[in-house]
Amino acid sequence: MIIKPKIRGFICVTAHPDGCAAHVQEWIKYVKSKGPIAGPKKVLVIGSSMGYGLASRVTAAFGSGAATIGVFFERPSEEGRPATPGWYNSIAFTQAARAAGLYARNVMGDAFSDDIKAQVIAAIKADLGQVDLVVYSLASPRRTHPKTGVVHKNCIKPIGAPYTNKTVDTDKGIVSEVTIEPATEAEISDVVAVMGGEDWELWIQALADAKVLAPGAQSVAYSYIGPEVTWAIYKNGTIGHAKDDLERAAKAIDAKLKANGNGRAFISVNKALVTQSSSAIPVVPLYISILYKIMKARGTHEGCIEQMQRLFATQLYNGNTAKFDEAGRVRVDDLEMIPEVQDAVRRIWPAVTTENLEAQTDIAGYRSEFLKLFGFGLPGVNYEAEVEPHVPMI
Ligand code: NAD
Repeated sequence: MIIKPKIRGFICVTAHPDGCAAHVQEWIKYVKSKGPIAGPKKVLVIGSSMGYGLASRVTAAFGSGAATIGVFFERPSEEGRPATPGWYNSIAFTQAARAAGLYARNVMGDAFSDDIKAQVIAAIKADLGQVDLVVYSLASPRRTHPKTGVVHKNCIKPIGAPYTNKTVDTDKGIVSEVTIEPATEAEISDVVAVMGGEDWELWIQALADAKVLAPGAQSVAYSYIGPEVTWAIYKNGTIGHAKDDLERAAKAIDAKLKANGNGRAFISVNKALVTQSSSAIPVVPLYISILYKIMKARGTHEGCIEQMQRLFATQLYNGNTAKFDEAGRVRVDDLEMIPEVQDAVRRIWPAVTTENLEAQTDIAGYRSEFLKLFGFGLPGVNYEAEVEPHVPMI
């Protein structure tokens, strides 16, 4: 099959196996180039096939030589249709890890379910005994609650009042105004159920009950705060509400892990980046396009892998003491949030139009990063050649 990108709105419905593998290889190469990290040895990554979770897994394995178990929910290929990119990423990661003599095991399925938690615990018991780091990096459109069976849907909406701002159709390059109606109470609690901290707590409880958390084990989950221009839709909206709940859970889990050999749990606030999840949020892709332009010009731009390598090497491990903000969060969004960068965003924001989008923003960089998520635009990959889309999970 010859696989080309097919973009539908904010999603690309095709993915290229060789391109995804090349992307994973780029990340591995980057982590190796930064040298070893005296870090974790046995790591569970929940949400390990894309974005920040995949970058955490690559960093743990190729920075610290860690054995990794990855949990993810991806669709395999079907007749005439390639698999989702996380499927190919996970295979590429696993092949590379095993070739480097590292243990890597994949558990494919719904991380919110009791069944997948039981499968992971059985895998840890059988192969690793215990884990010393649990990374929680899920971003999901829905969650079936394991106890009630209720399906909670994720929706990105403001709270309290409608929100109007500029947004960009990244595919067509059209800048327009969008108005998003506020969430209902039911929608707010649904988003908290999907993206809040309950499932992280259920994971840690299940792992602790099964005695598969090593003494001193740590856990980290990821959040975003961002600048005022996105607050109505992010920080003060449904997703921000869920992230507040994630912070609540971090404190509860921290207390539990402290009692387990002085471990800890915390939130790392990461930079805004192009991922499958962030591309679905209105307004944010325009902010990211402006941000990339400014940070690239300053030489401070980072992608998922640079962020996670820096998190592990300078905050969590290597003998460093994590620097917490006033709310007890680690911040690797520091370079995004410095006043000079945000002043520049504020200056550019009102001036952006469809006509000057290319000049005022890094929409070109946004698009190429977006395509890369699906394995397109990687150097050295022949996109005109036939490629086998059906690759079994390993
Ligand atoms: P992503 O879409 O790139 O990856 C999500 C991962 O979750 C994938 O591995 C997917 O397979 C997995 N997943 C989703 N539903 C699942 C399920 N039911 N069972 C098992 N696995 C499932 O997401 P991302 O952007 O890397 O986000 C990860 C975390 O980082 C989120 O908490 C997000 O809020 C946070 N974050 C993202 C950004 C950003 O700009 N993208 C910034 C800061 C923080």
